[in-house]
Amino acid sequence: MQIYKVGGAVRDRLLGKPVTDIDWVVVGATTEEMLAKGFRPVGADFPVFLHPKSGEEYALARTERKSGRGYGGFTFHASPEVTLEEDLIRRDLTINAMAEDDEQNLTDPYHGQRDLEDRVLRHVSPAFAEDPLRVLRVARFAARYAELGFKVAPETLELMRQLSESGELEALTAERSWKEISRALMEEQPQVFIQVLRDCGALKVLMPEVDALFGVPQPEAHHPEIDSGIHTLSVLEQSALHKQPLTVRWACLLHDLGKGLTPEEEWPRHIAHEHKGLKLIKAVNERFKAPKDCQELALLVGQYHTHGHRALELKASTLLELLQSFDVYRRPQRFEEFIVACEMDARGRKGLEQRSYPQADYLRGAADVARGVAVQPLLEKGFKGPELGEALKRERLKALKAYKESASS
Ligand code: ATP
Ligand code: MG
Repeated sequence: MQIYKVGGAVRDRLLGKPVTDIDWVVVGATTEEMLAKGFRPVGADFPVFLHPKSGEEYALARTERKSGRGYGGFTFHASPEVTLEEDLIRRDLTINAMAEDDEQNLTDPYHGQRDLEDRVLRHVSPAFAEDPLRVLRVARFAARYAELGFKVAPETLELMRQLSESGELEALTAERSWKEISRALMEEQPQVFIQVLRDCGALKVLMPEVDALFGVPQPEAHHPEIDSGIHTLSVLEQSALHKQPLTVRWACLLHDLGKGLTPEEEWPRHIAHEHKGLKLIKAVNERFKAPKDCQELALLVGQYHTHGHRALELKASTLLELLQSFDVYRRPQRFEEFIVACEMDARGRKGLEQRSYPQADYLRGAADVARGVAVQPLLEKGFKGPELGEALKRERLKALKAYKESASS
């Protein structure tokens, strides 16, 4: 049997990028031979094994045939006769379809190295169109390598467009889609992921609520970029530039969905878009079964981001309500994530990327003040049950009034 390094490990070595996980392909072997060498099978009818020591994935060279809808609608054929070239042709992109032996001799039948040099993301064969997950994968690689100047080849984008129009994207499971989306959002330029999905018509299918933001104007005074879709991309870009976690990036992507519902007569104003957007945010959350912390933050940021921007003008009682809504006493981290999401929203505007955002520290200070109100003295005064809650609220309000005054003086 011959063993080759394949996929991302070869690509990233040639790009001079760090290689994290290594995928291997084994040519000329049978399942029985792999088991005899101590490899552990991964799935029942999947010719993939884990190395007994390193735990890395070793796949028998295989060919594929489309047999149903969506990801997983494939029959595999693995046998010792399948050649390396036959295995490589079923892969998504030419830059992912190179193999290397243990002396770093490259096997590159589909010219991946040339495309690496030309900075092109190009499909290997027309069979690309058999797996809708590849639309998401290519958009994700575009986000990852945008910094190096990579672009999707026009003919690949065309195949992605056909896939998006064919209804195949709907066959993807929430879990599989979320895995790609969440990884893409954590790339250095997640806005490129959304842009590429939009360019091939996949965004309209996967997240019509986000797609609908493009072409919707906002008031130029606050939004020099005008377009709500462009604004959303910029907010996402800011969240990555500031190395924010997935929760914040997800909230940034969804914060303004309500603007897509504004009747044209009301443009460029978007009255109550925060509230109107909530049902859309909920729908997107549920469509991809996003993790609970992502879902929660997206809804809270959607509802309260304009409160964040007006923080310094809010009455003490409104400020208190905001802090209560976030349960800042038990969930300090979540409020901090809200604050930075608001800041990203403020900076994700053309020409305003470097602006200061005093609201952030003001809100942090307000949360500290509210948290600083001690319960003990109230207990000592004999308050209990609902009355204790009321007394605590009164004390917090008093403290916030003083805080607001000291901040404005
Ligand atoms: P990463 O750095 O994200 O791990 P990778 O290219 O190694 O990138 P993997 O998901 O680990 O991506 O897959 C390994 C290889 O398997 C890919 O390089 C590609 O050749 C192939 N591959 C994975 N998923 C698909 C797919 N859905 N369609 C076609 N080929 C795929
Ligand atoms: Mg990999």
